[in-house]
Amino acid sequence: MARKGPTVREFQKRFPDEESCLNHLMRTRYGERLTCMGCHKEATFYRVKARRCFTCEHCGYQVYPTAGTPFEKTRTSLRDWFYVMFLFCASRNGVAAKEVQRQLGVTYKTAWRMCNLIRKYMGYVDGDYPIGGPGKTLEADEMFVGGHDPHKDGKPADDKAVVFGIIERGGDVVTRHVQSRDAGTIVPHILKLAKPGSKIHTDEASNFRSLTERHGFDHETVDHSAKEYVRGDVHTNNIEAFWANVKRGINGTYVWVSKKHLQSYLHEFEYRHNLRQQPALMFELLLQAFPKVRVG
Ligand SMILES: [Zn+2]
Repeated sequence: MARKGPTVREFQKRFPDEESCLNHLMRTRYGERLTCMGCHKEATFYRVKARRCFTCEHCGYQVYPTAGTPFEKTRTSLRDWFYVMFLFCASRNGVAAKEVQRQLGVTYKTAWRMCNLIRKYMGYVDGDYPIGGPGKTLEADEMFVGGHDPHKDGKPADDKAVVFGIIERGGDVVTRHVQSRDAGTIVPHILKLAKPGSKIHTDEASNFRSLTERHGFDHETVDHSAKEYVRGDVHTNNIEAFWANVKRGINGTYVWVSKKHLQSYLHEFEYRHNLRQQPALMFELLLQAFPKVRVG
């Protein structure tokens, strides 16, 4: 893929210091000129030295662009926040809090909180919209995350988390951390996430029988248990490639992910997948979301 996101060098050039980050926040929230809340005139706001604020050219009214954002009450510099966001967008397999701790010289707790909030914003920006539709093919599948290997450590295997995912070929992916892989749990998610008229491919029939019988989807399966992986254009290779990416991140970068936070991690991987054709937007959209909405 020829398109690339910003490099570290480009990041450093654009945000060399705290000042440049504060200016970015001001512009993102309020634009170049705004109607002053003090004198109600159209005004340019100038930077007030030594404070995180800008002041009205007419009446001196002050605006704090960090007010009401996640940046307001942290001692972490804006530049550190921006940099960690950049790392999340530049990585393929995620960013470990340990690594953030090491690079920024902050505590592990601070590093983890930053990462956690960034993941939540990625989930917010990405959203969970229905995918597919007439003429489109979706692949649906489940995977297991974490838990013990019953053969190795003798503990029961049922503490594994189940993740359901559905992907549009050449398009977006949506995932859900679910309680089980029964049809009763999975099918309602498919009905919510797959637009009517979609073709749906899965790797086993029994769980999904109602898709054709009751819900009118064109549903095809390959039988992995019989070592059938592709039949004509029927396969689940795309969702499996996505799972492989998530597993590389969770096993390689994060090592262990609690069920409580699993969905946020999944959102992070969805975010990068769904914006893979516009890598420059990954960082841009995240930067814009922080001052505009409150998430988490
Ligand atoms: Zn004013």
